[in-house]
Amino acid sequence: MNVIARQDAGPEARTQRPHAIVIGAGFGGLAAAIRLGARGWRVTVLERCEQPGGRASVFRQDGFVFDAGPTIITAPFLLEELWTLAGGRMADDVELRAIDPFYRIRFDDGAHIDCSGHHDAMCAEIGRLAPGDVAGYERFIAMTEEIYRIGFEQLGHVPFGHWTDMARILPDLVRLSGHRSVHGLVARHVRDPRVRAALSFHPLLVGGNPFRVSAIYALILHLERRHGVHFAMGGTGAIVAGLARLIERQGNRIRCNTPVDRILVREGAACGVELADGSRIAADIVVSDACTGFTYGHLLRGVARRRWTDRKLAAARYSMGLFVWYFGTDRQFGEVPHHTIVMGPRYRGLLEDIFEKKRLAPDMSLYLHRPTATDPALAPAGCDAFYALAPVPHLGGGQDWAREAEAFRQRVERRLEEAVMPGLGGHIVTSRVMTPQDFATRYDSTWGAGFGMEPVLTQSAWFRPHNASEDVRNLFLVGAGTHPGAGVPGVLSTARVLDTVVPDANAFV
Ligand SMILES: Cc1cc2nc3c(=O)[nH]c(=O)nc-3n(C[C@H](O)[C@H](O)[C@H](O)COP(=O)(O)OP(=O)(O)OC[C@H]3O[C@@H](n4cnc5c(N)ncnc54)[C@H](O)[C@@H]3O)c2cc1C
Repeated sequence: MNVIARQDAGPEARTQRPHAIVIGAGFGGLAAAIRLGARGWRVTVLERCEQPGGRASVFRQDGFVFDAGPTIITAPFLLEELWTLAGGRMADDVELRAIDPFYRIRFDDGAHIDCSGHHDAMCAEIGRLAPGDVAGYERFIAMTEEIYRIGFEQLGHVPFGHWTDMARILPDLVRLSGHRSVHGLVARHVRDPRVRAALSFHPLLVGGNPFRVSAIYALILHLERRHGVHFAMGGTGAIVAGLARLIERQGNRIRCNTPVDRILVREGAACGVELADGSRIAADIVVSDACTGFTYGHLLRGVARRRWTDRKLAAARYSMGLFVWYFGTDRQFGEVPHHTIVMGPRYRGLLEDIFEKKRLAPDMSLYLHRPTATDPALAPAGCDAFYALAPVPHLGGGQDWAREAEAFRQRVERRLEEAVMPGLGGHIVTSRVMTPQDFATRYDSTWGAGFGMEPVLTQSAWFRPHNASEDVRNLFLVGAGTHPGAGVPGVLSTARVLDTVVPDANAFV
C-alpha cells in the first residue's frame, strides 16, 4: 500500500494532534467522534449521505418532518454523557419529553394494553387482560432487573476482546437464563399469548427474533421502566443536529456526501481511507460506523483477514429488513397515541416467515409512529405526520422491492384502516417509503438489514465483530453490528467501549 501524506495542511494539522477518521455519521459514529474529540483526537467524520444521522436521517416533504428511523429514546443518560464530555448540557440543545404511557399494543382481537413504567398501572393493565398472569408478571419483572444490572450496567461497555471475557460471564448467563430465548423466559412466567407478546417483542427493536435471541435481551424492558421512553421535541433529528454541533464545537468536522471506498492498510495497520472520488486521507486510526459486513467485505476488500473472512461474512446471520411508510394526513387522528404496536393474528409464525423462511407473509404486525401527538410542529397546522413500520425479510428473501413496494404499502394502509385509523385513505396528502433495497443503497447495509448482524447468542459479545478489529491494527468498529449491538442505547455503548480500546491522543504513539 502506498505511503500517504497528511492531507489536511491547515492550522489544525500543524498541532500534530493524532488524526482519527470516523466512517459514517450514524449515532455510533457521532458518539465515537465526540468521545475521541474529548480525549484529544483530531477527528474527521466522513458520511456518504447528504446529512448526518444515518438511520436517524430526517426526511422533509410537503411541510411534514419525518424521522426516518429511531423514535423511542431510552437511556437518555448515555446522550447526556456525550454533552458532558464536550463541556455542555443536553438541555441547552435538545428538549426531551417523557412519553407516558410508553406505547399502546393493540392485539388482533381488538383488545389493547397501555404499557408504562408504573408498576401498579402495569399490574392493572395485565390484570385487565389476564388476571392469572399478574403474579408471574411481577416475578418476570424482578428477573429483568437482575438481567439489566448484569447485561447492561456491567457488560454493556466491556470490550469482549478475548474469549476469557466470554468465559467469565458464562455462570451469569446460565443463572439469568441466557441460554433461553426472551420468549422462552417470558413463557415460563405468564400464560396469556397477548401478555407473552407484550413482554417479549422488545428484541425486535434491535433486530432480533424474540424466539431466538438470548433472554439477556429482556434487559430492554427494564431499561424502559427504569429510565423511561422519551421523544425529542423537533424529532430525533434534533438530537442528531445537537451531536453534530458538539463535534463542530470540539473543532472537528463532519463531511457529508463523502463516501469512503476503501480503508487503507499498511503493514497490517489502518493508515487512512480512499474516498469514492479517488482522493486519500491519512489517519492514525480509523473508526468504522458502517455496517460491519460492509466494512470487512467491501472497505477491506483485498486485505488479508484471519477472523472476518469473506466466507465467515457470508455465513453470518443478519437482522430482518424493514418496510417503512412515511405519510402525512390533512386531518389529525387524535385517538392514536404517539407509539402504537398493531399486532397481527400470528406472532411466532410471522416471525418465522420473516427471519427463517424469508417470505412476505399475507399478514403483518406494524409499529405506528405519530410524532405530532407530542410535537404538532412536525406537520402543517391541523395535520398529522406518521410512519408505519413492518418487519419484512432482508434482501436474502429475494423480494423485488421495486415491484412489491406499492402493493405492500397499500396492504399496510388497509391494515391501519381496519385496525386503528378508519377512513385513512381519504386523508393522505404526502407519502414515501423505504424498503430493504433502500437500506442497502442509502446506508451500505448488508442484505438491506434494518439492524446489522442479527443478535443471536453466537453473534453476541465476544462472537460479534470486536470494537478493536481482530484483523487490522488501528482499526476500530462501532455501531449496530458490533458489541453490544443495535438500538440507540446499544450503538452509543459501542462508542463508549472505544474509551477502553483506543488510547488518549497524547498517549498514542
Ligand atoms: C426504521 C427504524 C426505526 C428504529 N427505531 C428505533 C427506536 O425507536 N429506538 C432505538 O433505540 N433504535 C431504533 N432503531 C435502531 C437504531 O436506529 C439503529 O440501531 C442506530 O441508529 C444505528 O446507528 P449506527 O450508527 O450503528 O448505524 P447507521 O445509523 O446506519 O450509521 C451508519 C452510517 O454510516 C454511513 N456509511 C455507510 N457506508 C459508508 C461509506 N462507505 N462511507 C461513508 N459513510 C458510510 C451510512 O450512510 C450511515 O450514515 C431503529 C432503526 C430503524 C431503521
